[in-house]
This record gives sequence, C-alpha cells and structure tokens, in this order.
Amino acid sequence: MAQGSQLKRRGLLFVLSSPSGAGKSTIARLLLGADDGIALSVSATTRPMRPGEVAGRDYHFVDDQEFDRLVEAGEFLEWAHVFGRRYGTLRSEVRKSIESGRDVLLDIDWQGTQQLKQVDPDIVRVFILPPSMAELERRLRARGTDSDEVIAGRMARAAAEISHWAEYDYVLINDDAAACLTNVQAVLDAERLKASRRTGLHDFVRGLIG
Ligand code: 5GP
Repeated sequence: MAQGSQLKRRGLLFVLSSPSGAGKSTIARLLLGADDGIALSVSATTRPMRPGEVAGRDYHFVDDQEFDRLVEAGEFLEWAHVFGRRYGTLRSEVRKSIESGRDVLLDIDWQGTQQLKQVDPDIVRVFILPPSMAELERRLRARGTDSDEVIAGRMARAAAEISHWAEYDYVLINDDAAACLTNVQAVLDAERLKASRRTGLHDFVRGLIG
C-alpha cells in the first residue's frame, strides 16, 4: 500500500439502512468479515432475542427499565421506536471503535439516521433497496422466524422506510449480495480517502513541497 493511503484520518460513522429483509444484515456481516478496519456498533434493544442471535454480538438485549435508565443517563447517541420496540445506539460502542482506530458500522433505521446526522454531519449514509416488494416478502418469509402478523407489519413498514431513500448519500439495489457488497465496499473505500477526513494530509503535503 502506498504511504499516502495510510495517513492518519478521522474515524468514519458508516450507516446502513434498509427495510427489514432487504439483505442489510447479510451485507453488514460480509463487510465486517472482509474489512477489519470497520467494527459494528452493537445496538441496545428491548425486543426479544431471535433464535440464533447472541447477546452482546447481535444486540445488547435489555428490558424497558434498563432502556429507560440508559436514556436518562444520556448513554444513547440516538434511539427510536421500531415495530413497537425501542432500539438505540450506545455512545460507548461508537467510542470503543473510534478509539481503536476503526470506522463504525451502524445498522439503524431512518429515524436514527436523522438523529445521528444532527449529532455528526460528517456521517456517511447508505440505503439498501430490495429489487422488488415481492422479493422482500419472500426473503422475510424465508427467515421463518416471524408470524404472518409480524410479516404483514414489516411489509407495511417497509414502504414507509423506503420513502426516506432520498435522505441518504448512496442508494444501492440489492439484487445480489456479492455485487451489493462490492458497491458498499467501494463507497467505504472512497469515503476513507476524502481529503476532509485525512488529518495527516497537511503534514504530508508540507513534507512534499515545504
Ligand atoms: P431487527 O429487529 O430486524 O433486528 O431490526 C429492526 C430495525 O431496527 C432495523 O431496520 C434496524 O436497522 C433498526 N435498528 C437496529 N438497531 C437500531 C438502533 O440502534 N437505532 C435505530 N434507530 N434503529 C435500529
């Protein structure tokens, strides 16, 4: 790698949003596996754990009282109601990654993204669209974890989530997870090279031309 690409830079808050079932979790998992310069911000939620999920890895599962306590203590960078449950980004999660020199991946909805943009205007917002609503429903059913009623609720909410697409910096269509991942990685790589984030450039250029 050329020396110039290793210059010091500010950590990046990289937001991925999509309606539930558009493949965002798969893309997030693939990205985290492929790029060790970015770490997931594990959110807190009051929703119950799904089969296969691990506490502390997928979410910090908390009850309503604990969520209230975290809100009152100012521990959240943002939080929102989603599907009648509460979800929030913990300041400590973001701090941990930034301090370890890594960028932060946030899998949050449009409400959280709007709040985060107020806190840090420099965030990068990526929205993932499903190729069609029929495919979205097929993917939700294939998960086999939610009842018909929950799926109907998620489909109704998907249209509302999608209506916020124009508030994002990048909008990708997830026809194919591998192709979508390539695009997500391209966005991340380009954003990492932005001059405004590369605090080491000033000294580097001074070294070049005095
Ligand atoms: P799920 O219950 O399927 O894991 O997530 C439901 C929705 O909540 C997803 O759209 C996800 O992006 C969103 N979500 C997860 N964590 C957070 C968070 O910390 N804040 C906000 N605002 N939304 C979140």
